[in-house]
Amino acid sequence: MNASSQPNSVAAASSDEARLVLEYRAILENASVAILFTRQSRVLHCNARFAEMFGWSSPEELQGQPGSVFWLSLEDYAEVGRNAGPVLAAGQSFEVERPMRRKDGSTFLCHIVAKAVNPAATTEGTIWIGEDVTDRRRAEETTRQLMLQQQAILENASVGILFTQEGSIRHCNARMEQMFGWGPGELIGQSARVFFASDEDYGLFGQEAGPVLLSGNQLDVEWANVRKDGSRLWCRILARAVVPGDATQGTIWTTEDVSARREAQLALMQAHEELENRVAERTAELAETNLRLQEEVAERQQAEERVMHLANHDALTGLPNRRLLIDRLGQALALAHRENHQVAVLFMDLDRFKTINDSLGHMTGDALLQNVARRLSETLREGDTVSRLGGDEFVVVLPSLDQPKAAEKVALKLVDALAPPIDLGGQELRVSASIGISLFPEDGCDTETLLRNADSAMYHAKDMGRNNYQFFMEQMNVAAAERLRLENDLHRALERQEFELHFQPRVSVANGLACGIEALIRWRHPERGLVLPGHFIPVAEDTGLIVPIGEWVINEACRQGTAWCAAGLPQIPVAVNLSPRQFRQSNLVDTVARAIERHGWPCNLLELEITEGVLMQQTSDTLKTLEALNRLGVGLAIDDFGTGYSSLSYLKRFPVDFLKIDQSFVRDIAVDPDDATIVTAIIGLAHSLGLTVVAEGVENASQLDFIRDAGCDEAQGYHIGRPMPAGQMAEWLLANRPSGPLRNA
Ligand code: C2E
Ligand code: MG
Ligand code: MG
Repeated sequence: MNASSQPNSVAAASSDEARLVLEYRAILENASVAILFTRQSRVLHCNARFAEMFGWSSPEELQGQPGSVFWLSLEDYAEVGRNAGPVLAAGQSFEVERPMRRKDGSTFLCHIVAKAVNPAATTEGTIWIGEDVTDRRRAEETTRQLMLQQQAILENASVGILFTQEGSIRHCNARMEQMFGWGPGELIGQSARVFFASDEDYGLFGQEAGPVLLSGNQLDVEWANVRKDGSRLWCRILARAVVPGDATQGTIWTTEDVSARREAQLALMQAHEELENRVAERTAELAETNLRLQEEVAERQQAEERVMHLANHDALTGLPNRRLLIDRLGQALALAHRENHQVAVLFMDLDRFKTINDSLGHMTGDALLQNVARRLSETLREGDTVSRLGGDEFVVVLPSLDQPKAAEKVALKLVDALAPPIDLGGQELRVSASIGISLFPEDGCDTETLLRNADSAMYHAKDMGRNNYQFFMEQMNVAAAERLRLENDLHRALERQEFELHFQPRVSVANGLACGIEALIRWRHPERGLVLPGHFIPVAEDTGLIVPIGEWVINEACRQGTAWCAAGLPQIPVAVNLSPRQFRQSNLVDTVARAIERHGWPCNLLELEITEGVLMQQTSDTLKTLEALNRLGVGLAIDDFGTGYSSLSYLKRFPVDFLKIDQSFVRDIAVDPDDATIVTAIIGLAHSLGLTVVAEGVENASQLDFIRDAGCDEAQGYHIGRPMPAGQMAEWLLANRPSGPLRNA
């Protein structure tokens, strides 16, 4: 192949040929491909590139080398020769790619193209063009491997991967097919519309995805897609244009089935919502329960307060009761003790309340007490306590006094407060009170002593004529103790037969002759001597002893009357006083009937004196009892008329025979024109009702004259005769015996 190696041919060629040869040689020498020319299995020449490729120092070194030197083995060489022979002979190019050997024994992959110089005579030589393809093949293999790996990744990916171009599916992996329920290859060529429920939905998706992809950004959405069978699935879709900004170049989509997560999320949301609802419900329930509880607590508190109030207050007047009074007084004393001041206890009892209660009934009595309570409360200051102990007893505590005078002022204020008449349903009532005052510390240091001493002082005030106040004095306790002793003694007086009857005559005003006798009880006390009824009848009434005592009086009166008759004295009516308490006894009529029968005393000679109060207890029982007594034949008299609250017209209803005008009217009859008018009026009205009128307490002739002028029928009083023992009465009767029978039997 070297030009200098063939000087003969160069010399022989024409100058054109010689130039052509030179040109070919230049091409051969400078070609970048390896070129070899062989003849009869030996290297004729080759170019520099060939020598270099096979590791030989120069083309010259290769000249004459056998063709087998480039092959791995002789068998290899023979095989190639066998395969190439017919091809070359046919004038075609023989092409082969084989591992070949360099001079140093190393191998490389070589691509060979061979062509016979003259196919008709292949012995003239062959041209081999070689190319080292080791690197190219290796690169190709790497690429193939890479492709395979990528394919494997694609096929085994757990997300669906899709490649689309202009809306049409070009490629997708198995996961994508499975996820959407398509068979292998079914998706290819389809429109991406198949993943959507409707054209509208597909359009919506396009509106959302298009701008993102166009801008070259990644799309990341969750969408409700559909499978081949139309069932729904939630997908998370990531997408990016292959060439940013150019959607026509295709888009890669990665799709993940997030239905389970969505469902879980939904379930979680629902659970959360349900939980919140439950919490809200429970909260509401709790709030309601709480409200109910609060209401219950409030109710209970109110109930407790009511109970507390009831326990500590008087039901009728609402004033503190004894319990609360003692509590407050105790506190006041403790404070007074510490701060060194005085405390006053005012014990207050209404005067003649019993009469009002008996006369006008308990309803009126209660209304009156309420009225009094209000007046007392209004009179006192805030820190003071007024309480009702029961009945008509009130106690006032003045907790901090600087001097006793202050207590006196309050007592006066209380008396004044009660002075104006009280209007009860059109009826005007007047009440007054007697007040006893005890002071801490001089009259006592404890609640009990102070209350007891104020009570004693109150009794003293009553004795002093009522409607006044009295400070406690030590001797008052003596009086109170005496009253207690009296009560004890009274219990034994009946069995010890300490009672006796005195008698007071009643005369006809017209002729001055006896027309009746009133039996008045006396108690011959072993130590006190003769005790008058005013001292023990109230006690007997309070204790209920009046019932057996009264029964004794009726019997004794009948017995005495019979005894006088037996002694030859004229038969004269005997009057007996009945207390309201006796009248309420259901067996009163029996008691009277038995006494009469027992002593054989004529019924019409027994008279019973009752007070207005008895009549005013407007019960049907009252009327029944009076009618029964009337049927029995006994006379009935209204005693002390004018002190109660009855009216004359009221008397019409009752079978009453006598009316005894109270001595308080008779006393001043001659000097007090009011009393004179009252007495005259009573007499006139009583007569119009057919009643016999008796004036009580006639102490002098002028009184007698007055009542005579006023037309009064009978008179009783010291002027006629004082109450006297039975013996004296007999003598008086003998002296003043009436001429004829006093009353028709
Ligand atoms: P009475 O029924 O109105 O009796 C009349 C009272 O007036 C008697 O008082 C009598 O002594 C007194 N008296 C009579 N004439 C005069 C007078 O001219 N001037 C004055 N100042 N007084 C006169 P006595 O005996 O003290 O009785 C008082 C009251 O005790 C009686 O008032 C009567 O309500 C009651 N009483 C007396 N005996 C009994 C009885 O056996 N049972 C009941 N339940 N009460 C009785
Ligand atoms: Mg009487
Ligand atoms: Mg009387």
